[in-house]
Amino acid sequence: MRRTYCLFAVALTACGPGSAADLSSTEVEGWESFRASVHQEAWEGGKFIVDGDIALADEDALFQYYLDYLDQERAVEGFGVSRKSLLVDTVGGADNIQTWGRRYQMTYCVSTSFGTRYDQVVTTMAAAARSWADQVGVDLLHDASQDTNCTASNNNVYFDVNPVTDTYFARAFFPNDGRSARNVLITSSAFTTTSGGRDFEGILRHELGHTLGFRHEHIRLANPCTTEANTNNRALTVYDEQSVMHYPQCRTPAGGGYRQTELDYDGARSLYGTAPALILTSAIL
Ligand SMILES: [Zn+2]
Repeated sequence: MRRTYCLFAVALTACGPGSAADLSSTEVEGWESFRASVHQEAWEGGKFIVDGDIALADEDALFQYYLDYLDQERAVEGFGVSRKSLLVDTVGGADNIQTWGRRYQMTYCVSTSFGTRYDQVVTTMAAAARSWADQVGVDLLHDASQDTNCTASNNNVYFDVNPVTDTYFARAFFPNDGRSARNVLITSSAFTTTSGGRDFEGILRHELGHTLGFRHEHIRLANPCTTEANTNNRALTVYDEQSVMHYPQCRTPAGGGYRQTELDYDGARSLYGTAPALILTSAIL
């Protein structure tokens, strides 16, 4: 049996645009249990966290995420699904990447509320930023003048880096997110974890990959490792199990932490071009 299910419709009558979906009763139950299981950041305006560190703005976005997951499940049951590789997020079929005007001006502040860990965050963010900018045509710039007012409403920087207490190691944002969502949020566990070969710099490399538009690489696995659907993205390279965007626990064997591979850089350069320093070097040679 199938019935129309309307998000937020307590009386199941007020279907807003884009909020209705034709779901089976099993799928409705699936949504309700999924919704109940998803973690939401505990503060006002807190995001829904899926697949470990993907932040969704509201319940509408969460429902769309669930619908994407169902679409994939149906495709697998029906005709099979073409699996992809190093993935850039897409919105409406277009790559979700940093604009020409922004890609060399991804400024950020580091909150002084990190306290005794402030210097470590500054240093490690810079290293993680260089890991991309030394190879790819982007730049992420620390504006220390904003660190004492490093909030999600500070429009003098592109994004803010702040400490939080939550269940993840860290989470970031995608290029199409508005200012209030453009944060790199870090929990205390990120500083010390060795889970799956992770270290603090690797976690930040992975999170900055999201800010450039990259999706999780493991979502293309034939046997899904997480609930994140392999939809709304475009493949840039062949599948890369060692990608910085691949969860360590989803590898075989598990482990390996987070470091970019040559395929990661190839895929990133296909969107953003080569880092200017590399172009200059090759020109001199
Ligand atoms: Zn991630």
